Amino acid sequence: MEPFDLVVVGGGPAGFMTAITAAENGVKRIIILEGTSKLMEKVRISGGGRCNVTNATWIPNELVENYPRGGIQLLESFNRFAAGDVFDWFEKRGLKLKIEEDKRVFPKSNSSLDVINCLRKSAILKNVEILKKFFVKEIVKTPDNLFNIFSLKKENIIAKNIIISTGGHPSGYKLAQNLGHSIVKPVPSLFTFSTKEENLNECSGVSIKDIDIEIKLNNKTFQNRGDLLITHWGFSGPVVLKLSSIAARELFNQKYRFNLIIKWSVLSYAELKEKINYLRLNKGKVNVMNSRPIPSLTKRLWIFLLNKIGIDKEKKWAELLSDERDKMINTLLKDNYMISGKGPFGEEFVTSGGVKINEVCFKSMESLICPGLFFSGEVLDVDGITGGFNFQHCWTSGWIAGMAVSKINLKVTNQ
Ligand SMILES: Cc1cc2nc3c(=O)[nH]c(=O)nc-3n(C[C@H](O)[C@H](O)[C@H](O)COP(=O)(O)OP(=O)(O)OC[C@H]3O[C@@H](n4cnc5c(N)ncnc54)[C@H](O)[C@@H]3O)c2cc1C
Repeated sequence: MEPFDLVVVGGGPAGFMTAITAAENGVKRIIILEGTSKLMEKVRISGGGRCNVTNATWIPNELVENYPRGGIQLLESFNRFAAGDVFDWFEKRGLKLKIEEDKRVFPKSNSSLDVINCLRKSAILKNVEILKKFFVKEIVKTPDNLFNIFSLKKENIIAKNIIISTGGHPSGYKLAQNLGHSIVKPVPSLFTFSTKEENLNECSGVSIKDIDIEIKLNNKTFQNRGDLLITHWGFSGPVVLKLSSIAARELFNQKYRFNLIIKWSVLSYAELKEKINYLRLNKGKVNVMNSRPIPSLTKRLWIFLLNKIGIDKEKKWAELLSDERDKMINTLLKDNYMISGKGPFGEEFVTSGGVKINEVCFKSMESLICPGLFFSGEVLDVDGITGGFNFQHCWTSGWIAGMAVSKINLKVTNQ
């Protein structure tokens, strides 16, 4: 059997980008091995079926700030292939994109299937072979520096170069480990918080802009500001997802039991006191539930908070006692919730952890331990926050790996 120039393990976005880049740059015999019967399944379900392809953060120095894990190596990568390059890449291949107000980039059609079709067509156009239901179980390096790749059913394929693009699937880590790599323990990232807080579900669906939230764990403080969504089971929204990413490892160690602090107001104690005193004096006959010191808190949320503080919602502002006012201020400034776990549907979006990045050369995505072995995408210990940053990493690492394999191929052909 003639060896393939490149075997891609994993038919996800990172694997496809690697294969297409290599094929478009002269690599002839490429095959993508996908363990399931579906290609790019995560692309399909991503962004609520719309696929948030990347983020219009064009400057690499700014882009890199959206990766709690990835470090300086990513900056080097983004200096070569960043969000603007991804935008052009897809548009050149016929996929029209649009930038939304919050900088997230989606296909104009709002359909993730168009992203999948664009990638699939680009691969097929360059004669990349695609083999589904080939679940790679074992990779053996032969004495003549080839890779012998075995499926679960013991079929085998031989490769000169191989790339592991298996996302967060445990089998990919095992394959990498067997070829000499260390794995940073994978833990979930980008998840929502569950709480058993009484009556909070009455606020389900309430969304509030620009809220500060905080977690204090073992002398470390994790903070973030953004939009908060209250759900049937607890807290979600961009601010929560990002904080879950920033503190992913610590929250795992904590078994997802921790105290969440929500700061409902950015005002100081004195400013809030003034506002509340104003209501006591000027809206004395109004029920506390009908006039809010912070108008951005919705009425449903305000009633919930009054109940939590222990203030009768029917009480008139003029009847509010000073110690009730102080409790109100303290809650608005620092409201505590006992979080009892991740969201109930196991719906975390990415894995934090994976192949140790200091064992990989980010100029080529080639292993520093096993020449001829490459990595792209989520299998690496790199992960971003929500907003298209995880796909961006797939495109960048896939493109760099594809370019590197084409360089090797060119050298061999010229010899
Ligand atoms: C619900 C959801 C929504 C998301 N939305 C977004 C979003 O809008 N924007 C964003 O940037 N990110 C989003 N993400 C994250 C993003 O989907 C991932 O970061 C990305 O898919 C990782 O790509 P990958 O190619 O590295 O791995 P994957 O997409 O996981 O692909 C790996 C492929 O390898 C295959 N495979 C695994 N092991 C083997 C094996 N041993 N042999 C053969 N094949 C194997 C798998 O079946 C899979 O097809 C979302 C994730 C989820 C779960």
